[in-house]
Amino acid sequence: MEVLRSLLPRFLRRLWTSGSHGKNKELVERLQLYGIIKSKKVAEVMEAIDRGVFVPPGSAPYVDSPMPIGYNATISAPHMHAACLELLEEHLQPGMKALDVGSGTGYLTACFAMMVGPQGRAVGVEHIPELVDFSINNIKNSAASTLLKEGSLSVHVADGRLGWPDLAPCDAIHVGAAAPEIPQPLIDQLKPGGRMVIPVGTMFQDLQVVDKKMDGSVSIRSETPVRYVPLTSKAAQLHN
Ligand code: SAH
Repeated sequence: MEVLRSLLPRFLRRLWTSGSHGKNKELVERLQLYGIIKSKKVAEVMEAIDRGVFVPPGSAPYVDSPMPIGYNATISAPHMHAACLELLEEHLQPGMKALDVGSGTGYLTACFAMMVGPQGRAVGVEHIPELVDFSINNIKNSAASTLLKEGSLSVHVADGRLGWPDLAPCDAIHVGAAAPEIPQPLIDQLKPGGRMVIPVGTMFQDLQVVDKKMDGSVSIRSETPVRYVPLTSKAAQLHN
């Protein structure tokens, strides 16, 4: 096997070693190769924020698949994280404000914080307190630790269906769990010119892109079918 691998050109060798044995950089390169990451900025941020720091011990961090994180929740697959960062990139410019609802491991919140930088604000809202503690610890071990320390990045225990009014109006809102319908408070907390990316549905779900125009009207389009854990009450989530 090793001999066979050493005979492959470097490019194919890299593909071979990606997956369970791959490193974070190789994962990002693969997502670029498959056209999921197009933006240089998204690639840089996903390289800087090592997914390996955010998955529970024993999981395979660099495989392109969701992983259980306890409490009936999962960390999304890398291609979904990449797709959401791509969709939101223009709304994650330095100095902007980003809300991550259902922040789970804190991975995307950390990426948002890196994109909006120290002059911006990135807030994660998660209703399982143990996951909030887990995410804060993960962020402390990541490239976003300074942003957490200096306060441009924070994670809070709350029902994300109500958004985070203190941050409003937001340039970018990401929801990491599927809502039966788009919660009105999240639409209200979106800035004119801002964008929300949210999975919507129960059995069948679509990733929806919600753009608020400058006149306050809203346009919604479906990006792709998806499968997320539900955006629900804490009791319903833990009961399932
Ligand atoms: N983007 C996260 C996704 C975690 S899974 C990641 O990749 O790590 C979705 C998360 O949404 C879970 O952690 C779940 O606990 C949380 N969640 C579900 N309903 C919620 C609600 N009403 N308020 C806040 N968080 C919620």
